[in-house]
Amino acid sequence: MNPVFRDLKTSIFETMSLRARELGAVNLGQGFPESDGFEDVRRAAAEALIDQSNQYPPMRGLMELRQAVADFYGRTQNLNLDAADNVLITSGATEAICAALLSLITPGDEVVVFEPMYDAYIPLIERAGGVPKIVQLKPPHWRFDDEDLKAVFSDKTKLVMITTPNNPTTHALTRDELESLGRFCAQYDAVVISDEVWENVVFEQPHLSVLHIDSLKDRALKIGSAGKLFALTGWKVGFVCGPQALIEQVARAHQFITFTTPPNLQYGVAYGLGLPAERFDEAREELRIARGYMTTRLSDAGFEILPAGGSYFLNIDLTPLNLKMDGLAFAHHALETCGVATIPLQAFCPTGRELPILRLCFAKSLTTLDKGIEGLIRAA
Ligand code: GLN
Repeated sequence: MNPVFRDLKTSIFETMSLRARELGAVNLGQGFPESDGFEDVRRAAAEALIDQSNQYPPMRGLMELRQAVADFYGRTQNLNLDAADNVLITSGATEAICAALLSLITPGDEVVVFEPMYDAYIPLIERAGGVPKIVQLKPPHWRFDDEDLKAVFSDKTKLVMITTPNNPTTHALTRDELESLGRFCAQYDAVVISDEVWENVVFEQPHLSVLHIDSLKDRALKIGSAGKLFALTGWKVGFVCGPQALIEQVARAHQFITFTTPPNLQYGVAYGLGLPAERFDEAREELRIARGYMTTRLSDAGFEILPAGGSYFLNIDLTPLNLKMDGLAFAHHALETCGVATIPLQAFCPTGRELPILRLCFAKSLTTLDKGIEGLIRAA
């Protein structure tokens, strides 16, 4: 077996969710909403399953969906995308990232990444032959600056992977950070893959995309996810948007990975993207309430919460608890003995850095959050 994959453990999300199911524990680990997503979107997909063709849709995605993606981003993010040239549909955002990496990297190319990072990045970069150059970000703000970039960019830099808002840190990249990245990418002629799957789960300010930055928009791919937009994480429908030449490249890898995505789900998502803004606002409002509730309950219980930006997650700092174990051990202890699954931030640190921080998913009912928080109080 290829050593990159042979040496990997099962993803922390799967490990924690599987064990939580076995134990009947509260699952604040893997990021998925407790209630099933938009019902009319599900209904649209169910109808399409019967009424529309179930044979291969076009490799780049149904035109109806590509148009809906272009219109949605035009309306909500003021982006000017052509459905035919600038949009590609994939089977989830992870496939989009995989296809982008496989198509844009030549073995030996350096890829700049920021730790903590989503756990799929390093295995995919390495399998594509890329050499990761890791910037280690620090809590509580997790920002990077010119000095950080200077330390990792070189003539071999081909790609930069960013996540905004970030999973797990929740930090949404600032305009300054993105512009600074733009200067380095222009100087070294590097391309950016921007994982923006949490774009609609931002609370304090409108989402700032890589495609909003003048110095980046011609050298960047924006990746989105229907699973996150409609609280349907099992659907695995993703979109890649960006300049035609880059989309062309990614499509060449995509055609030999999944080739396409179930047509009924594509119809469902196309319908959903056309829904009025209020529907997305309502979903966000529900999450805002859950986040506020969890923040209050956790702080009342004496937990220290890190600044929160976008995504379904809140991070708590374990340092003040003076535990006699690291974050990973604490997460296992909380699950095994107190019935609550969480994700330790170490799982997002491929360098092996130990961060005494725990990620909690708040996309749950207040009752579930209560149960989870009570478990955490007992564990601490
Ligand atoms: N994105 C989800 C999370 O961060 C996990 C997805 C998965 O399990 N592959 O929790």
